[in-house]
Parts: sequence; structure tokens; C-alpha cells
Amino acid sequence: MKQGTLNILWLILIFIVTSGQKIAEYPDNKDNQSHKYKNGNSYDVNLILAPRHSKVKNVIFMIGDGMSLMHVYSAWTANKGRLFLENCQFTGLSKTYCSDNLITDSAASGTAMATGQKTKKGYVAVGPNGNKLKTITEIARDAGLSTGVIATCRLTDATPATFSVHNTDRDKADEIANSYIDCGIDYIAGGGRSFFSNPALNLNLLPAFEKKGYQVAVSMDDLSKINQGKVFAPVAEIDLDKPAERKDQLWQLTKKGLDLLSENKKGFFLMVESSMIDDYGHFNELPTLMEEILDFDQTIGKVLEWAKNNPGTLVVVTSDHETGGLTLLNGNIETGEIECHFSTKSHSGVMVPVYAFGPKAEIFSGIYENTELFRKISKLLNID
Ligand SMILES: [Zn+2]
Repeated sequence: MKQGTLNILWLILIFIVTSGQKIAEYPDNKDNQSHKYKNGNSYDVNLILAPRHSKVKNVIFMIGDGMSLMHVYSAWTANKGRLFLENCQFTGLSKTYCSDNLITDSAASGTAMATGQKTKKGYVAVGPNGNKLKTITEIARDAGLSTGVIATCRLTDATPATFSVHNTDRDKADEIANSYIDCGIDYIAGGGRSFFSNPALNLNLLPAFEKKGYQVAVSMDDLSKINQGKVFAPVAEIDLDKPAERKDQLWQLTKKGLDLLSENKKGFFLMVESSMIDDYGHFNELPTLMEEILDFDQTIGKVLEWAKNNPGTLVVVTSDHETGGLTLLNGNIETGEIECHFSTKSHSGVMVPVYAFGPKAEIFSGIYENTELFRKISKLLNID
């Protein structure tokens, strides 16, 4: 074959390969359409004061996936000028870029927060060379603390995976599901049951979890009956329902985790992710996006109350990156109406806020790399 023909064939092949990549799913939003939302269920926010306590025993690390300051301020307006999040005494800013890209994805950013190392997009708790990185959950577990991971999406998704398993490809859901069996985390709750048990595919990993000492709960009803021990709870087929249907399920999953993990007198590390803030940012779907953030905020309020009543509990709330390029164009604090614009269907580049409540919350003030979250938390838990 002639060189010219070969070159053309190569170009066609490259086009086919690259056009199938994920970025094509989220083309830039070039329209100037504005999106409106009015919150019909605004809620009151009470003052929650952190107890005076100097030592950190427990850490609850909460991630709003794809949640920037603009998302928080839009939700604050929609809830008529109040959020539970504002009970956090100290705030900081986290730089989220990853090792091979200014605009990170959830896998690289989750890895940074879970392991203290920046890595490539798509990498799950492994370094840029594919080397396994020890996660904060593994370090806490080895130090005798209890550990937990909660997500509102499938547990095989990037953020919960980076705190639980290791893989060079976030999309290898079957491998990630398998790795959960040996992760050693005491409390695992979220969606994605079909990745662990699917009769149509003759797939059932649940007995393997039981062999490792887990009690398996495939529904909220199952979960409510468990009061001690290790728990694996994929309570939804894929992702959890939208906030309007699932009600306070994120808090229910979190409360069960707090009940179980706080049995350990040495303390615990619990990661809680409100995962689908990111999805509705990608979809540019403002109403559900706001409902997700307001659900997350109400969960935060209950977590802060729990921390207030359990001295020695530090709560850190942050995000992994911005999604949607959200801009608040207009709004009304009296009526809870907002008007927003999305500039992209992908992630954008901006520092994300860090909010901290409880002992040593002050060390989360300032501007730092997302990897510092790992270092600050492991130091405070005395497991560094
Ligand atoms: Zn994310």
C-alpha cells in the first residue's frame, strides 16, 4: 500500500478512536440559555456550635462531587439565605489539578485526597506509574481505627473507589467490584448492587463478602436490622434515587455508619459522598442539581449535630472539582428563586471550598493542594 493511503487510513482510525472518547459525551455548552429554579421546600437552619475539645478522634470527610462555591452560593440563595454548611467555623481553598491535566476528574482528585499524591485522570488510588498508593482508609484501618465509605452513586464509581480499592482504570467496574471484597473497610454503603450481584450475568460476589465477615444488606430494611459488625450495603441497583424520592436516605446511611463505627474507642475515619451533584452538573439540570446540594446540606446539618454531641469529631466538607461551569445570574433570597447559566457539560478549573467543624478545624484555613487534605487528616488522627 502507498504511504499516502496508509496515512489516510491512520487518520481515519485515530478519528474513530478519539471520537469515541468520553469527552465527546460532554460537548461545550455554547448556548446562552439560562436555567431557573424555585425551591418549594426551604428549611430552617439552626446554630450548631462545635464543643471545645482539643484532640481529634473521629474524622467525617464529606465530598460534594462537582460542587464549587458557586453551587453552594446558588443553593444558599435557593434556601433563602441559609445553609447548615455555614456552621463550619473555618474555610479554605483546595487546588484540584491532577498530574496530567489542569482540569481533573473524580478519580485523580479522589486519589489526591485519599492518598496525598496527585495522579493521572482515570487512576484510582494508584500513582502516575500505576503503583499502588496506600489510602487513608487503609492507614486508619492498620492503626486500629474503624473505617467507612458511603456514596449516593454506585460504589464502583470513581470517588468511593479511590477511598477503597486500587485500579489504573476507573471504568473497570467489574475489577473494582471484585477488589472491594478484600478492602477491609468496616462499613460500605451506597448503590451499585448490580455490579456485585446480577443473576442475568451469573454474577454473585455477595457470598465472598460474607466469607470476609461482612453482613450484607441489599435494602434499607436489611440495613436497619444490623446493629454491630462489618457491613456491606449496596442498597440500590445502580445509583440511589433522586433526592425527592429517596428522602433522607443519605442521612440514614450515614447515621448507621456513625452508630457502627463509633463503637471503636480508638476512633474512625468515614468518607461520605454526595455523588450526583456532579451528574446533574454534567446534565446542566439545575433543579435536581440544587435538590442534591440541599439534600447534602441537610445531611451535613445532621452530621454536625452528631459531631457536637460526640466531642473529638472533626467534620471536613469539600469537593473534588467543579462541574458544569455554573454561574448564578440572578436570584431572590426572599422567594428562593435562582437563575443560572452553565458554561460547559464537563468539569471546569477552579479551586473548591473546604469547610471544617470541630477540633483543629483551624488548620483547614488557607490555600493548599487537594493532597494536603490527606496530610492534615492523617496528622490529626495521629496515623501519619
Ligand atoms: Zn467528581
